[in-house]
Amino acid sequence: MEKNNIKKHNLFISEEETTLNWGDIQEAFKKNFGNEVYNSWLQKLSLVKEYNDYLVLGVPTRFFRDWIVSRYLDKILEQVKTFKLSLNRIEFKIVEEGKQHQELPKISDLNSVTEIKDSILNYNRLNPNLSFDNFIEGKSNDIALSYSKKVCDHLSRYNPLYICGGVGLGKTHLLNAVGLELQNENNVMFISAERFMYHFIKSIKKNDMVNFKDFFRKSSVFIIDDIQFISGKESLQEEFFHTFNSLMDKGSQIIISADRSPSKLDRVQERIKSRLSGGLVVDIDIPDIELKIKIIKRKIDEIQNQFKESINLSEEVINYLAQECKTNIRELIGILNRVVAFSRVHNKNLNINDCQNILKDIFNQNKVITVDKIQNVVSNYFNISLSEMLSQRRSRPLARPRQIAMYLAKKLTSRSLPEIGRRFANRDHTTVIHAVKTISRLTDQDDEMKKNISQIKSLLVEQ
Ligand code: ADP
Ligand code: MG
Repeated sequence: MEKNNIKKHNLFISEEETTLNWGDIQEAFKKNFGNEVYNSWLQKLSLVKEYNDYLVLGVPTRFFRDWIVSRYLDKILEQVKTFKLSLNRIEFKIVEEGKQHQELPKISDLNSVTEIKDSILNYNRLNPNLSFDNFIEGKSNDIALSYSKKVCDHLSRYNPLYICGGVGLGKTHLLNAVGLELQNENNVMFISAERFMYHFIKSIKKNDMVNFKDFFRKSSVFIIDDIQFISGKESLQEEFFHTFNSLMDKGSQIIISADRSPSKLDRVQERIKSRLSGGLVVDIDIPDIELKIKIIKRKIDEIQNQFKESINLSEEVINYLAQECKTNIRELIGILNRVVAFSRVHNKNLNINDCQNILKDIFNQNKVITVDKIQNVVSNYFNISLSEMLSQRRSRPLARPRQIAMYLAKKLTSRSLPEIGRRFANRDHTTVIHAVKTISRLTDQDDEMKKNISQIKSLLVEQ
């Protein structure tokens, strides 16, 4: 009995040990992850503490930690286990700045606003892995890609460049690629609209708007991601408008992304919409099957190079994945990673049946689309409240979204027409029939409607 207790107890106590040579492990990282990943990320890890069953590794920032955890943790553990089999987990500790040697990007010379700067460094660093080199061209994105490149060659010719498209189609990737391309010669600022607001509010609270203005107006290339976020936020729009004008005045290049075109941005001041569309607006569409196949093949190559092992996925399986994953490249890559991980662990060549099993929950999950979910997504998309959408008011800005939601409820759920009618504030089933007919007709005739519907569908699948 006592023996048992001691044994149990021991499981929870780990004594500090020193058996590992960190230098050797780093060499192994370099060899197995390749120079690029090693130099950008793993080199900056330090060994803080070693225990029998786990390691504490030092990282410079939280962002850095999250990045490593989301991309490399499994493989890192696998690697360190080859040096010490008893290890079964890794923890991270943020090591004080200064103890870690970090390269600072261009904006580092703006010393006066250290706090914003630090936060930008943590959250808005350009991702070295999202470059033009690994952005695959297809029919749905070739125009956006070509103008993104042109902007790099001819600053201020297309100003602002506005890239729009649905979720997971490569907007952030493109913006990041432009940033990487330009960062050596220019003062590049890359920030999401959400983060911009965070700094804005923080500066107001601290009564420090002067620094805020200074900081954001100093860049010569200003890249702002997901601008639709400013919708309905008046004072943020005000500030953005002034930042925008001041940057344009001094000839800085501005690049913007959003999930929709400027004219479609709801609850955004007209003067901002008109500024946003004053340069060049390009969009990224839903990928066709060729592009999805190209992306899968390219990702397989990358994984093979990174891990120095061969991955066999048949053409048939690749086609299946591309076919099943309808609209979203981020999801496509996620699915591929899962399939590859599975085939690695089980060391087998997968067929379509295996894939169906592995991905069952993802595909099924996606298929659970409810009337509630449709109502939420559609009302959000059009920036109206749920109660407005369900109300009896007949004005076009409310009636169209309502009809679209009914149409999607009919197309994407198994609910009957009367059931759908009831869910829309007890409307009659003939109202639903009318909505379905109207929207079907409009999707055939009107490109804009077609695009709205496909974007909403991709949001429904995403959430
Ligand atoms: P968005 O910002 O439009 O939501 P992201 O830029 O985050 O989408 O793209 C989602 C994922 O898909 C990222 O991992 C990105 O690298 C990848 N991706 C998107 N388009 C491409 C492409 N054309 N070639 C290679 N990878 C792509
Ligand atoms: Mg994005």
